[in-house]
Amino acid sequence: MYIYNSASRKKEEFIPNDPNLVKMYTCGPTVYHFAHIGNLRSYIMEDILEKYLRFAGYNVKRVMNITDVGHLSSDADEGEDKMLKGAKRENKSVMEIAKFYTDAFFADCEKLNIKTPDVVEPATNCIDEYINIINGLLEKEFAYIAGGNVYFDSSKLDKYYVFNDFNEEDLAVGVREGVEEDSNKRNKNDFVLWFTKSKFEDQALKWDSPWGVGYPGWHIECSGISMKHLGEDLDIHCGGIDNAFPHHTNEIAQSEAFLGHKWCKYWMHVLHLNTNSGKMSKSKGEFLTVSLLEEKGYDPLAYRFFCLQSHYRKSLVFSWENLDNAQTSYNKLISRIASLKPGEGTIDVEVYSQLKEKFSAAMDNDLNSSLAVTALYDVLKAKTNDATKLALIASFDTVLSLDLLAKADAKREAMKKEAAATAASFSIISESGEENAEITAKIQARQDAKKAKNFAEADRIRDELKAEGIEITDIPNGAKWKRV
Ligand code: AMP
Ligand code: ZN
Repeated sequence: MYIYNSASRKKEEFIPNDPNLVKMYTCGPTVYHFAHIGNLRSYIMEDILEKYLRFAGYNVKRVMNITDVGHLSSDADEGEDKMLKGAKRENKSVMEIAKFYTDAFFADCEKLNIKTPDVVEPATNCIDEYINIINGLLEKEFAYIAGGNVYFDSSKLDKYYVFNDFNEEDLAVGVREGVEEDSNKRNKNDFVLWFTKSKFEDQALKWDSPWGVGYPGWHIECSGISMKHLGEDLDIHCGGIDNAFPHHTNEIAQSEAFLGHKWCKYWMHVLHLNTNSGKMSKSKGEFLTVSLLEEKGYDPLAYRFFCLQSHYRKSLVFSWENLDNAQTSYNKLISRIASLKPGEGTIDVEVYSQLKEKFSAAMDNDLNSSLAVTALYDVLKAKTNDATKLALIASFDTVLSLDLLAKADAKREAMKKEAAATAASFSIISESGEENAEITAKIQARQDAKKAKNFAEADRIRDELKAEGIEITDIPNGAKWKRV
């Protein structure tokens, strides 16, 4: 399997530290508001990654944090704590807000068939871990105290920027134009590990620490939570592209300075979902949530399908028209699967492995989910029996998670019920009261032919009856007949 590593800017062969267990970490949501469907694009792609690793035979332990403290309005430690902002907006406590939006996030994930990671850890659960790392950083002089806060000293690193090619001179002390800079920082890229005295006096959640009562910075939580559950070596760390800088850059800085060795092997970043008017946002314009899609009559899985049809390293434009197209294609896909007959034939092992290989080749190539979807259509087109096709679809869907077989079953059932209801409501009346099973069967056959749009056959039956001296008159939901 090859994946694009944002840290090396190259596609690399995926070789986990421990061949028996892939350790994967995902940055979780900041639970101050509903997730928008852009956020969920990232989680869908991370879900695909985890499921494909399992499909390819790996054991995976996946950890995700829930940011319920410390994430300020700007990722660069400026502004207000987002959680506090949410609590004020809704006149609730920070913990109430956190619980409400955490539950809402997982409800959305369920609708999108996003599996809950093995470990989900709220940031407020791991204060001891952060204190331990910050202590270590202070001891090694990678951190300093200023104005009551503890800061990471980015100038102590040989290389700070990992994901982008900024000039190292940018590390020099200085104030960026137009941005209110924290005057306690020695270097522009220093960041807060622990806040005590600060401008955020109404901070709701505070803990005791060796540096005074306060709360952790945002970046330290992912290092602390990851090390708590996955140890000192991480295989894959993922998040949306906006997390690359400064969040992931700072995670690497503090983790490697603390551990004294390389921390994470592969970094994967999902490009953004944008609208025609630009960046998707929780505050600007239409707030696109899963509930809104449902209100407008879309199946959340049609949105998942929409995401899968593009590559995660390309930004994706959302529009209602694009979603309409995805919903139509998804419905057609389900109908085509519903036309396959379960239990027909036995699996053709050779064809099965050839077609599965196509799917794996697509996913092995940096998770090319759009080619994986093409491999699914190839199954439908293949010259093989329905048993083989259905087994392949079941297998691919352990990764794609589009509920393909369940929806096709439901569609088949609905079609059966509809046919039965129409048949039941179709009445055949003899005008003279004569009962004749043969004539009744012929009139029913004519009706079935009409339903199947086989009008030639329907006309043939009518002519046949006419030749026998039987005249049929169509009435609403039925037909009358008489001898002439
Ligand atoms: P947040 O709740 O803001 O911490 O973000 C949760 C996740 O969504 C992070 O991995 C972000 O990088 C990601 N994200 C934010 N905006 C978008 C977007 N428009 N498209 C895709 N992912 C996004
Ligand atoms: Zn993170």
